[in-house]
Amino acid sequence: MKAALDDLVDDVAAQAAGLLLVVTGAGVSLASGIPTFRGSDPDAVWATDVTELGTNQYFQDDPAGSWAWYLARFGRLADVAPNAAHHALAALERWQRGRGGEFLLVTQNVDRLHAAAGTEALVEVHGRADRVRCSRQTCALGAPRGSIARADVPIAAFLAAPTDANVPRCPQCGARLRQHVLWFDEMYSGHADYDWPRVERAARDAALVIFVGTSFSVGVTDFVLTQAVRRGRPVYSVDPGAVEPDPSVRVVAAPAEQALPALVSALAR
Ligand SMILES: [Zn+2]
Repeated sequence: MKAALDDLVDDVAAQAAGLLLVVTGAGVSLASGIPTFRGSDPDAVWATDVTELGTNQYFQDDPAGSWAWYLARFGRLADVAPNAAHHALAALERWQRGRGGEFLLVTQNVDRLHAAAGTEALVEVHGRADRVRCSRQTCALGAPRGSIARADVPIAAFLAAPTDANVPRCPQCGARLRQHVLWFDEMYSGHADYDWPRVERAARDAALVIFVGTSFSVGVTDFVLTQAVRRGRPVYSVDPGAVEPDPSVRVVAAPAEQALPALVSALAR
């Protein structure tokens, strides 16, 4: 159903001590200049490729192709900064804690912009663009717990000649390194950093859920939505495209970088 921003303000204000759960997708980073995977923005260039190329199968079949694809995607991230939506969500967390409530932000984005904006209770459920990990499961730098900073991995040889032989190698065991992100053919339980048990707990405990800028096309949104609807919790979606994933979801048809600052300033009054 359609909802007004005032409805969201009233419902957030009414859920005093409970857990406020926010789930964000690519739409929240759009105003920072990061194209969405599947959105209607003109730069959503991976719309047809992402479910094929964003897989462990592709990495196994074509390690150099997988690395090149991610370097092209993640190369732009060095120059981006949090926008008003990220800052508003950090302010919302401070406001919620200030009145003794609980807060958790679960993001599908790997761009680190929520952390840069100061969000503290944060689950980056699809991984992080600033880290890579060993593709060998038994290695300390691989799943289920290991990773290393991307900045510590030499990639000059690969950039000069992007071949399988030049794909960056694990400094510990010599196996190929891979992106520290959840691929479409992988499970949330595959790495401790995805913090899936915390997402499950929050989905069960949430007093109110706000989805922001997500296309409801991944497992985490399905899971959180199903749990909240089953428990009869208020569920909002801030989405300029006004997609209605379930009849009970209250859709605020506005860009995140406009609606969220307005929400925070209304709550502060
Ligand atoms: Zn290794």
